[in-house]
Amino acid sequence: QLVVVSEPHPNLPDPSLPPAWHNTTRANAAFVILTRNKELDDVRWTMRQLEARFNHKFNYPYVFLNDEPFTEEFKELTRGMTNAKIQYGIIPHGHWSYPEWIDVDKATALREQMGREGVIYGDNLSYRHMCRFESGFFFRHPLMLEYDYYWRVEPSVDFYCDIDYDPFLYMKENKMKYGWTISLFEYESTVRTLWPTVKNFMKEYPDLIPENNLIDFVTNDGGDTYNMCHFWSNFEIADLNWLRGPAYLRYFEYLDRAGGFFYERWGDAPVHSIAAAIFLNKTEVHFFDDIGYRHNPFTHCPTRRELQKKCHCNADDNFDYSAYSCMRRWEEVTRD
Ligand code: GDP
Ligand code: MN
Repeated sequence: QLVVVSEPHPNLPDPSLPPAWHNTTRANAAFVILTRNKELDDVRWTMRQLEARFNHKFNYPYVFLNDEPFTEEFKELTRGMTNAKIQYGIIPHGHWSYPEWIDVDKATALREQMGREGVIYGDNLSYRHMCRFESGFFFRHPLMLEYDYYWRVEPSVDFYCDIDYDPFLYMKENKMKYGWTISLFEYESTVRTLWPTVKNFMKEYPDLIPENNLIDFVTNDGGDTYNMCHFWSNFEIADLNWLRGPAYLRYFEYLDRAGGFFYERWGDAPVHSIAAAIFLNKTEVHFFDDIGYRHNPFTHCPTRRELQKKCHCNADDNFDYSAYSCMRRWEEVTRD
């Protein structure tokens, strides 16, 4: 048999339907990318995949944020990657600096000590500003105020699969507030006092903590200790109004006052994840299995055949059931 005529690819969209971008029902949403000018090539790498796999059909806008002004080169060479609107914002100084209650000498000494102990980013101050900004401020940057949902993107991440529906609308229609694709264990040395601080917060504000929450995702002993599980926040699709609401803001303020963003090295991933776990229930948090994704060194690659065939990742690289993954805990906690 010399010629094999294959059936029409079952995966192609039904040609009798209008292309996805003809669908006028849209969420009020944007990509948000915190980045530096020197990461331009990595940003372009990622935008290329995001556009090809999803956004050329949907044209959701991009918001780029930076603690320094973006260069003309950065703007011109990102502008060229999409037809969608792009906004470039500078972060207000107060959102990327020490709050006045922080003892700077103490913070410096503890940071240098963490560096000597070999903790990853242990001696890095700008990394701490980044984590605090992503924990408490990006969603109230002036450019973000007009949006209801965000998709966080980082330079150099990969998107492997065709996304033939609108994840923002999916979140909205299902009243979901937080979506993720990789979960894993945090380095304990970066969050030593985070959970004790959260426990004090929950004691002081019991009215903010709903009964049927997901707290067991982050604790194995009924709330006594943190099990280090968190959603990897370099990918998030979530509800901005949840973060801008009174519960999250009071929580962030409480953590910020405690000083752990500077005296330790609290990451925005455990901070967001613990918030999702204590404030939300399992119907409000969504695992996006269908979004194949890589942020070095971990990959989420769908393994179900129906999903896999829309993707260019290797299902053998899927991180979900490897030793550092929190997928098993997620499944235990969300099982009916
Ligand atoms: P990691 O993923 O934890 O290793 O940290 P990254 O270096 O990827 O930083 C997380 C995000 O914050 C990325 O989108 C970076 O581009 C961004 N970022 C980190 N540090 C800075 C900084 O000093 N300035 C700006 N503008 N962006 C930063
Ligand atoms: Mn990163």
